[in-house]
Amino acid sequence: MKEANRLTRLWQDHGPNTYPLDISKLIDGALQNSDFGGELKTKIGSYDSFEGCLVRTKNTDKWTILLNSEIENKRRQRFTYAHELGHFMCHRGLRDRFEDSDDTLNDFRDKIETEANVFASWLLMPANLLRDEFSGIGWNTDSLCEIGNRFECSLQASALRFVGLSSKPVAFIVSRDGMVVWGSKSKSAPYISAFCFGDELPKASHALTAHLNGESCTLPQDSGFAWNEFRSANESQYFDYSGRGYQYTCIEFVG
Ligand SMILES: [Zn+2]
Repeated sequence: MKEANRLTRLWQDHGPNTYPLDISKLIDGALQNSDFGGELKTKIGSYDSFEGCLVRTKNTDKWTILLNSEIENKRRQRFTYAHELGHFMCHRGLRDRFEDSDDTLNDFRDKIETEANVFASWLLMPANLLRDEFSGIGWNTDSLCEIGNRFECSLQASALRFVGLSSKPVAFIVSRDGMVVWGSKSKSAPYISAFCFGDELPKASHALTAHLNGESCTLPQDSGFAWNEFRSANESQYFDYSGRGYQYTCIEFVG
């Protein structure tokens, strides 16, 4: 977080301060303003074994970020780029090579992978901009898509960031085949009845109905006490058919 905030200040106070962030430009500016005397280059190519990689040229201070051009989802490639920059900023003293695949980019148990993911989402979606531009919005799949478009980030990364920053009682649930994969909620959100890996979507929720009916998206609607027996909520759905069949549910508690 500290490194991401430092680069954010550099970009906002002394750089172009435009978003979506131009990562290549940021790297050039950041290196000029640092004590680091080496080199950091970026190469895009076709690689078999990873989505992104940070590697040191043996016995030198020359580093290269390799990005796999086969990743068709450009938002995912951007996030991977920021993730590799995170390894460079925070971890380059630990190893000479960091390879990232789908598994490591989604590994929230490994400390350094989590740190690189936190770095990436804080860098691409800075708190001050998110608060300035989105603090007043209702939490639903339309606003989620707006945030994703504003910062050119995946919906999952956008939701994690928004929910983590929000002062309202909001939550985000990722599910597949009617079962929760993971969930995230703001500090002020109450207990949520289906939140952990393997939980079944609540029987009275629109999320379950939408899943059973094969709907592709739903507008925000009142789901009563489906998610918490004492607090009612509005919820809306979005289905990601491009990925692995994930269903995203935005929940905003009312009252
Ligand atoms: Zn990594």
